[in-house]
Amino acid sequence: MSYTGPEFDSPAPRRPRRGAMTVAVAALVPGALLGWLVYEAVGDTGGPGSGRTEAKAPSTIQSSPSPASPASPASPSSASPTSTGNKPAPAATDAGSLKGKVVVIDPGHNPRNFQHSTEINQKVDIGTNWKECDTTGTATNAGYTEAEFTLDVARRLRTILQEQGATVKLTQNGDRTYGPCIDERARIGNEAKADAVVSIHADGVGSGNRGFHVILPASVHAGAADTRPIVAPSRELGERIAGSFVRATGSGPANYVGGGTGLVTRKDLGGLNLSTVPKVFIECGNMRDSKDAALLISGAWRQKAAQGISDGIVSFLRG
Ligand code: ZN
Repeated sequence: MSYTGPEFDSPAPRRPRRGAMTVAVAALVPGALLGWLVYEAVGDTGGPGSGRTEAKAPSTIQSSPSPASPASPASPSSASPTSTGNKPAPAATDAGSLKGKVVVIDPGHNPRNFQHSTEINQKVDIGTNWKECDTTGTATNAGYTEAEFTLDVARRLRTILQEQGATVKLTQNGDRTYGPCIDERARIGNEAKADAVVSIHADGVGSGNRGFHVILPASVHAGAADTRPIVAPSRELGERIAGSFVRATGSGPANYVGGGTGLVTRKDLGGLNLSTVPKVFIECGNMRDSKDAALLISGAWRQKAAQGISDGIVSFLRG
């Protein structure tokens, strides 16, 4: 059965443009040059995405014309030695440095959504149109669900951010029977007056499609949706997360959307349309590709993913 619902269907595959040296290159390249090099290095050895069976093609998809930005100097990843001897740790690990900052983490879907199809299929108003309350999400071929993945990464991310002094709120923590609905997910970030919101996902497209992408809100103004004030800061947040995610995980930008930038802009996602605070989604990898799945099921890799997302958020919050 298909686990993927309309809210998180991915855009249609674009013809990959470039090759697949991204991981090796990205792992070697620090800070400022990273985005450009990722953009230049991603190649066309990836499959054309012909195996995709679930994705439909929202006409609203735009690949970003610009490469992932040169994010500010990388925060040390958890794997990096950050201090020697008795010297104090560098600023990125200073406790309390994010004091006063509020981050909302939205673990996509819910492990029990599949038991509540009636409830999650009810439509909610996302301003531009009506969408299902929530969807079940995808899964690996072996049955590791996206909802389990998103919750685990979210909890790891929360821990990292709290250690740096941020106030962190999850939209759900495995403590609800379903949902929340996508409009409520947005509202939680808005009411928290979050400085940044990240919705965690993994994609479910055909084998051979690999890599991560960050989804940015398009400018929409319809009904209750008005993203105009958050488009620019959300792009900044997304670009920083894309850069730090490459550095922390070694994963490359998606080879099937985004033109090698790891960035995609969409206006069909209620969780973005209804946000009044800077917000992005991240699709951390493709659960239906065996190589990506091997990463996604690894706790060690999920820790790197959380670190990468955290580094991007921290960089954004520090300006
Ligand atoms: Zn999802």
